[in-house]
Order: sequence, then structure tokens, then C-alpha cells
Amino acid sequence: MFMPFYMPGRRRLRVVVAGGGYAGLAALSALRTQRPDADLVLIDPRPHHLKITRLHESFRRPLAEFQVPFSALGRRFGFRHVQAALPIDEPALSQWNTGRALTVDGAALEFDYLLIATGGSYRKPEKSPETLDLDDFSTETGSGLIDLYRDAIESRGRYLTVVGGGATGIQFLFEIAHYLQRQRSACRLRLVDADPAPLGQFRPGLGRYAQVRLADLGIDYHPDQRFQAQADGVLQLQARASGQPLALASDLTLLFLGNNPAQRWEANWFGQVVSGGAALERIYTAGDCSRYRPPGSNALSAQTALRKGRLAARNILRHASPVRLLEPYLYRDLGYVVSLGPEDAVGWIGLERNVVGGAPAKVAKDIVEAQYDLLLAGVDTYMP
Ligand SMILES: Cc1cc2nc3c(=O)[nH]c(=O)nc-3n(C[C@H](O)[C@H](O)[C@H](O)COP(=O)(O)OP(=O)(O)OC[C@H]3O[C@@H](n4cnc5c(N)ncnc54)[C@H](O)[C@@H]3O)c2cc1C
Repeated sequence: MFMPFYMPGRRRLRVVVAGGGYAGLAALSALRTQRPDADLVLIDPRPHHLKITRLHESFRRPLAEFQVPFSALGRRFGFRHVQAALPIDEPALSQWNTGRALTVDGAALEFDYLLIATGGSYRKPEKSPETLDLDDFSTETGSGLIDLYRDAIESRGRYLTVVGGGATGIQFLFEIAHYLQRQRSACRLRLVDADPAPLGQFRPGLGRYAQVRLADLGIDYHPDQRFQAQADGVLQLQARASGQPLALASDLTLLFLGNNPAQRWEANWFGQVVSGGAALERIYTAGDCSRYRPPGSNALSAQTALRKGRLAARNILRHASPVRLLEPYLYRDLGYVVSLGPEDAVGWIGLERNVVGGAPAKVAKDIVEAQYDLLLAGVDTYMP
């Protein structure tokens, strides 16, 4: 089933990848390794790849450490970067599959294969001057952003609120708690969540561990409350079950309301987009914007994005070879670890019931990140 080699066709292979996140870069790296002569183009509106899984660390490191310029990656993996957003809809995908050419920013690009890896999107309620969300932390160093508000909050002895007890909200909250401790800040912290326990998407053991750590750090916790608004130093909440309103003093609210991919392209086992019941054999998809036919993992995680990207790349190469024997997607998640500040973490490894916390979990997370850094450096240590 798993062919260990590819049989290159005679012509120079042309592949366009839309989206230079975890999936897109994993695909570009795999394509370049197997086909040194391929013509690779990346379309992405950003000037850099963003290591989103480490964004919360920007309370102890500059954001620039998590932004890798596409110019440098392009030299390493031999691709050309077109800085633009590709507008994608289903009719366009069908048309690109037939015509094998697209136009972006007024320029025509011809290709043999197109990979759509444009990621997910996050729920964004209406912003106020007293709220920040993931977009803000994607463009500014976390510590610098918080410092803009810190004096005002401290002078009033008031609160900074994090809304959202999922993995993203929890990772940010613990980093902020440690940052404020290092600054000896009087600013108080609270967590608000619509769920009854933190990290509700995982087994309860993870949430229980996080809750103990919240208490250790003196962070107020308000479960079962929905965010309504934040303005004029007041946070408006509503109890999930009763609808009872609750107003709390808060000078700044950070909103991490969860992943909400607006569009997930359906794909077959091989990563080819399925449209109108038929596979578009020249159009592949990978990462958070894709949903592959089960049983492989469709988790919205960097590990899953990376595996899909690599599989899509392998199948593009197989499809381009004289023997079109494609490989099915069977990847199962091997774990997920949530960081709880610089020294602590909680997650599961191997099987979901294997909950690990503290130093071993932290080491596991560091290893996963280090393996990805190696890939970006051009050293591929992943199994197929
Ligand atoms: C704060 C945070 C922490 C996380 N931590 C973890 C973690 O610890 N472990 C884990 O496994 N997962 C984690 N995740 C989830 C993980 O980051 C995502 O699952 C992963 O980034 C998905 O990879 P992707 O390649 O699909 O998309 P992305 O990494 O989001 O990349 C998408 C790329 O597409 C580009 N793009 C968007 N639209 C277009 C367009 N129209 N045309 C061209 N390009 C476009 C974007 O600019 C971007 O570069 C975290 C997510 C967040 C937000």
C-alpha cells in the first residue's frame, strides 16, 4: 500500500500551494525533497509563516521568533512566494481543476496541481477598545500589548479577563499570569468560560489539572458564563443555563472564543477535493480548511495539518508519476499537550486516557515543537 518511492514523469512538475501554514509548508518541504526540479509557488497574504502553536510564548519572547519570513523559507525549500490572498469558492475549484491555471493579483499562474491549505478562522465578536483577540496577538508581542493597559488596570486595582477556557485561552491565560508575576503586577486575573470546566474538548482530567493550577495562581474562575460585551470598565456576562445577567469590573478582556472554520473543503481519502460528488483530481486540500473522509484524524491541530499536508504532497507526486497509485489518509492523533506557562503543561499522549501533567507533559510539548523547528530548518525527522 505505501510506495516507498516515486517515479517522476518526464515533465517539470508545477505545484501551487495556497496557504503557508503547517499544512502548506509540510507539503512544500515534502515536494521539494522528492522532486528537486519541481516548480513550486506559495500564495499567502502574510510575509511570514506564523508558528501559531507558540504564539502564547510572546509574553516571554519577541513575536518575531515565531514569524519565519517566506523569503527565507522560499530559499530553503525552493519556492516562489506570491504575497496575496487567493479568493476560493467551489466553482473556482472546478474551473481550476479543468483549466489548470488561476489568476491571483492580476498575474496568471499555470499549474499541474493546486493544494488549498488556507487554515481555519476564529470566532470574532464585535471588538471594543477594551477587547483584544487572536488577530492582535498575531501582529504584536503579547507582553507589549498587555503593557499598554497594565498601568491603568493596576492603578484601579482591577481585572484583566480572559474569555474562553479552550486550549488557546488557557495557554494565553497562564502565560499572562506568569508574566504579571514576573512584573510584580497588582493586576488581577479571571477566566470566564461558557463550559462547566476548562479544556472541555478533552478528557475531564486535563480540565481538573488546569483548575488546580488556576487556584494555585489565584485566578478567579467563572464557568458557565457567556460573554456579552465589554465597555467602560464593565464586563457583561450571561449565565448559560438561566440567562441571568452578570456585570463584573474589568478593564481589559481577551477573547479566545474558539476555532470556527468558515469553510472546510470535503476531501476523499487521498486529499483530493470532492465537489458535486466527484473528486477534483488536480486540486488537493490539507490542514484546518479540509475534512478528509474518515477514519483519519480531522482534528483542528498542527499535527493533523502537517500530516495531511505531507500526505497531499505524496499523493500529488504519485498522481504525477506513471503509476497513479494513491495512498489513503489514516493518520491518528498521537497526543495533544496544552501549555500552562513556562514550566508546566497538561495533555494526553498515545491514548486519550493517558493524561500527563507537569514536567513530562512540558517535555513532550517541547519535543513536538523542536521537531517542527527542525522541519522548517530543512531536516525532516517525521515518519511518513
Ligand atoms: C493560539 C493557538 C495555539 C494552538 N496551539 C496548538 C498546539 O499546541 N498544538 C496543535 O497541534 N495545534 C495548536 N493549534 C491549532 C493549530 O495552530 C492549527 O490547527 C494549525 O495552525 C492549522 O494549520 P493550517 O496549515 O491548516 O493553517 P494555518 O497554520 O492557520 O495557516 C494558514 C495559512 O494560510 C494563509 N491564508 C489564509 N487565507 C488565505 C488565502 N485566501 N490565500 C492564501 N493563503 C491564505 C494564512 O495567512 C496562513 O499562513 C493552536 C491554535 C491557536 C490559535
